[in-house]
Amino acid sequence: MPAALFPLFVDLRDRPILVVGGGAVAWRKVTALVDAGALVRVGAPALEPRLAQLAAQGRITHLRGPFEPAWLDGVWLATAATDDPAVNRAVADAGAARRVWVNAVDDVAACSAHVPARIERGPLQIAISSGGGAPMLARHLRERLETQLDDGLGALAALLSRERQRVRARLPDLAARRRFFDAVLAGPVPDLLRSGAALTAQRAFDRTLNDAADAAGETAARGRVALVGAGPGDAGLLTLRALRLLNEADVILHDRLVSDDVLALARRDAERIGVGKQAGGAHTPQSAIHALMIEHALAGKRVVRLKGGDGFVFGRGGEELEALRAHGIDYEVVPGITAALACGAYAGIPLTHRDHAQSVRLVTAHCRDSDDALDWAALAQDRQTLAFYMGVAGLDRVRDRLLAHGRGADTPFALVENGSRPDQRVVVGTLQELPDLAAAHGVQSPALLVVGEVAALATSLHWFGAAPLGPAALPDAMTADAVAAPDAALAEAA
Ligand code: SAH
Repeated sequence: MPAALFPLFVDLRDRPILVVGGGAVAWRKVTALVDAGALVRVGAPALEPRLAQLAAQGRITHLRGPFEPAWLDGVWLATAATDDPAVNRAVADAGAARRVWVNAVDDVAACSAHVPARIERGPLQIAISSGGGAPMLARHLRERLETQLDDGLGALAALLSRERQRVRARLPDLAARRRFFDAVLAGPVPDLLRSGAALTAQRAFDRTLNDAADAAGETAARGRVALVGAGPGDAGLLTLRALRLLNEADVILHDRLVSDDVLALARRDAERIGVGKQAGGAHTPQSAIHALMIEHALAGKRVVRLKGGDGFVFGRGGEELEALRAHGIDYEVVPGITAALACGAYAGIPLTHRDHAQSVRLVTAHCRDSDDALDWAALAQDRQTLAFYMGVAGLDRVRDRLLAHGRGADTPFALVENGSRPDQRVVVGTLQELPDLAAAHGVQSPALLVVGEVAALATSLHWFGAAPLGPAALPDAMTADAVAAPDAALAEAA
């Protein structure tokens, strides 16, 4: 359920505001409004002593008598703070008729405006609302935050507001400004302000700003590349750092495996270049990818080289960094969630398990000639999990080699197609049946093959998307499948 209220901070200074009610509740509302600089009119037959005193001092205006809708004329906001629900409701109705926001104390239904619980540290304010439904919860959160946010924050907010224009002028680039603010917050300035050393804090701030401006001058001239792992597809699996780099990128060189959901999070005006390599299809040579990265970085751009999964797991990330290094280009590496981890998680397959597997191997089964270089005797050993990347084409060879080297024919496997994506499919069976089952279900790339006892757990532990598919769809089981289908549909409908 989305929040029904839109948060807004309003400037009440020198604006007429009406408070209806003259008792203790009204007093609390009036003082808050007077503190905010509002011109407060208090309407009530009589005022409690402190309110009467404010009126006598000319700090508020007293409208004497029972509520009249005309009190609302010309005000920006009204607060109904009487102990009579009927009066509060009348104020709300009159406010609605005049398009004046009304806050009715203890009457959520009558409120068009709510006053949040709030925490103030100088110009910094945190406001909390439960939509009027759970004010105790909002208050509880406020108390917890009160103890966690120290007083130095107010001074910090004031310093940052004061310096805002200067910082913008010295660091016109948004990414440089973010880095600078990170540096200020991680440096000595907050502590100095907390301990009241305002002058020393200002000096530390100036020093950080000078350093940042120098550094920004250098990186602007040089550009840099971030090798970023985009994960398996679900954008929620990006790291925060990946997200930030995508927000700051000028140029994004991405693989075919990078999902649209992830690309949608990148800075809108970033140039996106697809350099996908599709098995058997259009193919950007690795050297062309290197040339693109280098060209844009040398032009001073912030380049993100975005790879499916993790850039260092069957991603040729190493080669790309070597090329950058050879050209003296700065780089950083942000890890991503690799297919084996993502597919394991989203298919309910723990890759290790105390009873079944004490190690995991990440293997690529793609290269036709080089798979003989794999140590099949070692791969065929028990009590380990194998995760084969790029496995759709050579599944019969994988099965044959593993069987030839002694892995049991009934060893469970799971093929996870489009892992973590909305169209994820999982096919499970035994090693013996692997190629036939994959063909029967038409498994397509990208798919990850998991071999080992843990693969069988997908049947009981799956939680995402459809239940795993098994041998039921094999051609000779087709009739059984067709007979079972109506029951399955009934069970689902029930
Ligand atoms: N660097 C990537 C792997 C690139 S190799 C990573 O760390 O995940 C490409 C292979 O990864 C695919 O052929 C497939 O086997 C596997 N793969 C990548 N994304 C996948 C996904 N969402 N679901 C299943 N397999 C995936």
